[in-house]
Amino acid sequence: MQKTFAVALHGGAGTRLEEYSEEELRQYQDSMARIIQLGQTMLASGHSAVDVVEQVVRELEDDPLYNAGVGATYTVEGRHELDAAIMDGRTKRGAAVACTTTVKNPVSLARLVMTETPHVLLIGEGAERFADAVHSYPKIERVQNDYFDTEFARRKWLEFAERQKHEATPAGKKGTVGCVAFDQQGNLAAATSTGGVYNKTMGRIGDTPILGAGTYANNETCAVSCTGAGELFILNNVSFHISALMAYQHLTLAEATERVVHHVLPADSGGLVAVDRFGNIAMSYNTQGLFRAAADSTGWLESKIGA
Ligand code: ASP
Repeated sequence: MQKTFAVALHGGAGTRLEEYSEEELRQYQDSMARIIQLGQTMLASGHSAVDVVEQVVRELEDDPLYNAGVGATYTVEGRHELDAAIMDGRTKRGAAVACTTTVKNPVSLARLVMTETPHVLLIGEGAERFADAVHSYPKIERVQNDYFDTEFARRKWLEFAERQKHEATPAGKKGTVGCVAFDQQGNLAAATSTGGVYNKTMGRIGDTPILGAGTYANNETCAVSCTGAGELFILNNVSFHISALMAYQHLTLAEATERVVHHVLPADSGGLVAVDRFGNIAMSYNTQGLFRAAADSTGWLESKIGA
């Protein structure tokens, strides 16, 4: 059956699934199922792909289970610095914010950078000043940095910092969030949001807010949102790479994502969700699992972590 809309989300690529209890895994699956259903309902009632990816990512940012918004991980100094991006495949306009510390939903600020400025990336104090100045409805909500604190993220951060003393590149649970959508008008969009990698250096920026690396959308090819070792995703231009394989080598979405995730990126580096202009979805990863959910106009919906 031809699909008239489709949506997929991720809640990060897990490298150590054995760290989660059955109960925790169920909580993630339930949360992702609830949020993807919201995306499915919005698309069914005619909302645009860009509205849907923003709203789905906001829901994920507001859920403390994920490393984005509340529940974001910590820098070496024990603070939160958040990055987010959004891209509209119809206009091929996209924008991002990085290292924000007081913006409750960075994805919505990224959308305003896209629609209200000629820029594509605002960082730190500049992004926060823009949040102070921009007129929007609803308003950009601001919080103290400790709003993002959770017991769970703090414990995971401290455990990770301990492991870093003994291992050069310890694997850690990540939990970045993202969404891609194909709407009834035939438009694609992608959005991604993160607290970044555990115990990161102040000012470190990963792939999430780098368009063409962690986030990309183009109506002619696909929309992609990534999660994983951000530096590798930047160096391999992962999301644009997939779009380019489709545009220039005429690979299908499944072939292009397979090529990049399994033959360009090293093993255990991450994963992604992607959708093309026919509503085909790819959810590909080279880690133990990818926290992911997807749904489409046929009524199909799934929420999964492992194979
Ligand atoms: N890609 C994110 C970053 O490097 C981290 C993640 O996906 O978990 O900031």
